[in-house]
Amino acid sequence: MATFDYAPAPESPAIVDIQPSYGLYIGGEMVDPIDGSRFKTVNPATEEVLSEVAAAGPTDVDRALAAARAAYDGTWSRLSGRDRGKYLYRLARLVQERARELAVLESIDNGKPIRESRDVDVPLVAAHFFYYAGWADKLGYAGFGPDPRPLGVAAQVIPWNFPLLMLAWKIAPALACGNTVVLKPAETTPLSALAFADICRQADLPPGVVNIITGAGDTGRALVEHPGVDKVAFTGSTEVGRQIARSVAGTRKKTTLELGGKAANVVFDDAPLDQAVEGIVNGIFFNQGHVCCAGSRLLVQESVADELLDRLKRRLGTLRLGDPLDKNTDIGAINSAEQLDKIRMLSEVGESEGAERWSPPCDLPDRGFWFPPTVFTGVAQSHRIAREEIFGPVLSVLTFRTPAEAIDKANNTPYGLSAGVWTDKGSRILWMAQKLRAGVVWANTFNRFDPASPFGGYKESGFGREGGRHGLAGYLDV
Ligand code: NDP
Repeated sequence: MATFDYAPAPESPAIVDIQPSYGLYIGGEMVDPIDGSRFKTVNPATEEVLSEVAAAGPTDVDRALAAARAAYDGTWSRLSGRDRGKYLYRLARLVQERARELAVLESIDNGKPIRESRDVDVPLVAAHFFYYAGWADKLGYAGFGPDPRPLGVAAQVIPWNFPLLMLAWKIAPALACGNTVVLKPAETTPLSALAFADICRQADLPPGVVNIITGAGDTGRALVEHPGVDKVAFTGSTEVGRQIARSVAGTRKKTTLELGGKAANVVFDDAPLDQAVEGIVNGIFFNQGHVCCAGSRLLVQESVADELLDRLKRRLGTLRLGDPLDKNTDIGAINSAEQLDKIRMLSEVGESEGAERWSPPCDLPDRGFWFPPTVFTGVAQSHRIAREEIFGPVLSVLTFRTPAEAIDKANNTPYGLSAGVWTDKGSRILWMAQKLRAGVVWANTFNRFDPASPFGGYKESGFGREGGRHGLAGYLDV
């Protein structure tokens, strides 16, 4: 049979200007760390060093928080909502103007396919700033009283899976409500946050309203534990979320935690199977499965399990893995060597516990961090691959017979961030949505995001909501 290969369609990296080294963005300027050190950030698709980045030490954290406090007291909390909104609109428009550069930079530093950074991440970043710009002068109509007040200075720590998007989820509502921020991006993906620092400068944002300090976990800890913080917003692992919850207990710091997930994607026998296959692929292979709300557990009704799996495997055979900057790429690089080790380890545990492992034929590049799309069948609820967040392109398949069994299995997890339901029956969708203990339930779709829609978890997936009107509450004294 003739095969038709795709010709390479690489996006040019020439549009980004990565500097050999970066300082910290404090008080509206890039400054060298006082007591910090430096670390390298690499391209996960090639292992090539991209830049050297500052790791902020405790004095740098002090300095950033002092700048945020001065900006809060001196300018930002005194501006009208209308004027704050103007700045947010300006940030949104600059993100749009620099969209291509930001998408390429994100793909280079993170490893995600350009198709995703270009069509999902960056448009959503702009949409978040536009959305919260619209709220800035309407807070009195948001249902929190006539004149809700901001909290003060927010410490924001974000992960590496959606670096710029998580920055937008954190910064846009904080600023709209009148807070100032110090944000720490993840160690492996600092570059798009540093590009955003340049956007703040371009927007003439008053100095100190947004401060970006790079660094590793120690910097994050120093930031959230600092007494000069009024609000902590964290997205990342449940383990670090627990540490943060302990550190803020007994303080006045208002906290939102968006942690891990092990979402069930439930397919009933009346679902349109081809559509469900696309939803399953999008649910777990989008962003290499580095998604807290990924549909990592497929629950399929037994009567259609064989047919669905056949179609799914055929579809996975068509996914293209490789250069994140190639516009044809579906699956990019794993973000770091550590994450690759974790995915490998849990996949080996899956096999040793008795599940059956399958991947399509797939050539992995010689350099960089790669893992093929992988499906485990014969998975029991007790298996670690059914319980723990793998955070990689690995799907665990379980079956069920009745809707009640689907609910029991879907809810049998310490997490509760998201879920998917595939069925032809509207009444069943509503029944499932009521019973599923998940912050977001998608019906006949998966991994859809909109700034107007609140997002957040139950149980060990954290608390508080980001996005929508609900997302304002985390940044107001209400
Ligand atoms: P972490 O939770 O460690 O990282 C999230 C952010 O918190 C990063 O900016 C990190 O810095 C920072 N951080 C680390 N330790 C502390 C601390 N004690 N106090 C304050 N901030 C801290 O996630 P990892 O990157 O280590 O990933 C581990 C696992 O977590 C993954 O395998 C995945 O399962 C899960 N995860 C879940 C995410 C989600 O959205 N639900 C997102 C990311 C990971 P630094 O990057 O420098 O360590």
